[in-house]
Amino acid sequence: MSASPDHADCIFCKIAAGQIPSNKLYEDDDALAFHDIRPHAPVHFLIIPKRHIASLLEARPEDEALLGRLLALAPKLAREQGLGSGFKVGINTGRDGGQEVFHLHLHVLGWPPGSSKA
Ligand code: AMP
Ligand code: ZN
Repeated sequence: MSASPDHADCIFCKIAAGQIPSNKLYEDDDALAFHDIRPHAPVHFLIIPKRHIASLLEARPEDEALLGRLLALAPKLAREQGLGSGFKVGINTGRDGGQEVFHLHLHVLGWPPGSSKA
């Protein structure tokens, strides 16, 4: 048996594979979106590629189209979550960028009209 890939224990790979549950809001062949388990806003979800890319620092030129697709999902899904008037997108990158889960993900955070920012 060959050595395990470095993402064998990656929690987001396991979510993408359906091996552990998530509160999913979107899925296609290449991407998945699910609600963050510890939300920092009334709406807080993550968009990930199904294929393991550890972080934006590890993304390669051939990943450009995939990165564009992930970013383009943000407004589509945000609108569906009631964030048509605006939202924040963040990508924590690398240890010094506050990244805790080393599988690339976009955070989408929003405060629908009427919700409290406190
Ligand atoms: P970061 O790597 O710092 O950009 O953040 C990782 C994010 O993943 C945090 O906001 C966590 O709350 C979230 N998270 C970790 N495990 C899960 C999980 N099983 N389901 C949903 N979100 C998760
Ligand atoms: Zn992974």
